[in-house]
Amino acid sequence: MYDVVIVGGGPAGFTAALYAARAKLDTLLIEKMVSGGQMATTYVMENYPGFAEPISGPDLALRMEKQARRFGAQVLNDTVVDLQLDKVKKEIKTTKDILYSKTVILCMGAKPRELGCPGEKELKGSGVSYCATCDGAFFKDRIVAVVGGGDTAAEDALYLTRFCPKVYLIHRRDSLRATKVLQEAVFSNDKIEVVWDSVVEEIHGRFDVEGIKVKNVKTDESRKIEAEGVFVAIGVVPNTELVKGKVELNQAGYIITDDSMQTNIFGVYAAGDIREKVLRQVITAASDGAVAAYMAERYIVENRW
Ligand SMILES: Cc1cc2nc3c(=O)[nH]c(=O)nc-3n(C[C@H](O)[C@H](O)[C@H](O)COP(=O)(O)OP(=O)(O)OC[C@H]3O[C@@H](n4cnc5c(N)ncnc54)[C@H](O)[C@@H]3O)c2cc1C
Repeated sequence: MYDVVIVGGGPAGFTAALYAARAKLDTLLIEKMVSGGQMATTYVMENYPGFAEPISGPDLALRMEKQARRFGAQVLNDTVVDLQLDKVKKEIKTTKDILYSKTVILCMGAKPRELGCPGEKELKGSGVSYCATCDGAFFKDRIVAVVGGGDTAAEDALYLTRFCPKVYLIHRRDSLRATKVLQEAVFSNDKIEVVWDSVVEEIHGRFDVEGIKVKNVKTDESRKIEAEGVFVAIGVVPNTELVKGKVELNQAGYIITDDSMQTNIFGVYAAGDIREKVLRQVITAASDGAVAAYMAERYIVENRW
């Protein structure tokens, strides 16, 4: 039986693993994809302290994993498919095994929100993408569109101008939510055309994306935009399907914790983007992970396990 099993290998998970392993707890982190979570899709990070020069998300992810492993944390590449959390001995079911642990730290993070318009599902992976840094290079010399108005949408649009001659930025309001510095960069980039007050009604194409239909929400007029790629950047939703009905969630589906990352179940903690909080960033995910691991250690000690 493990002392701590951590579900999810983003910055929250790897920081929890570092703190737990360094406290000499028998620690296992389970990650279903590549290490780093959303951070691994970020091509440049400028706001993680300690790096005066920008660092890439994948680079920071590798460093976090290496650091956690150095103290003995084990990393398993598998998907957690079920959890029994209400027992003293927590049960973690993966696609290959059933594992047991004294404590569980839920760090499954979040995933991109979908548009929900016709054509999106059908053309996913054939021109519809949720990660400009992962897929941008495939669109070299093509016209693309980014949907959204926050930091991620602005960053994506700027990043795509490296490869694409023209990038439409489609936003449903008449001003961007992105931080001022990013807005300035967008407005001063000749390759970016912002399509204000508009929503995507349909993405069309037979095998690959050929264009999109957008509607102006103020005039109700629709127009077609020729684009071979659509990058959706309209926010995220928490990965809480696994724990629905098992731990307390808020209306938006985020896990409710107290300040010590404790969920409503003893011995079960949540850290990072998956929990209800005001700022979802790498630094706050890392901070949550450290607190959760510390609390898991205290729980084990207090229960004289
Ligand atoms: C494009 C983009 C740019 C960003 N830029 C910045 C930035 O510049 N600075 C900044 O501070 N933040 C940035 N962020 C936000 C930051 O990446 C997130 O806040 C942070 O990654 C959250 O970490 P996390 O560990 O909580 O979750 P995540 O990073 O979402 O990681 C969760 C992990 O859990 C895994 N997982 C989920 N379910 C299971 C399961 N059932 N079994 C096993 N594994 C599972 C997932 O595969 C994933 O790897 C950006 C995010 C995006 C999308």
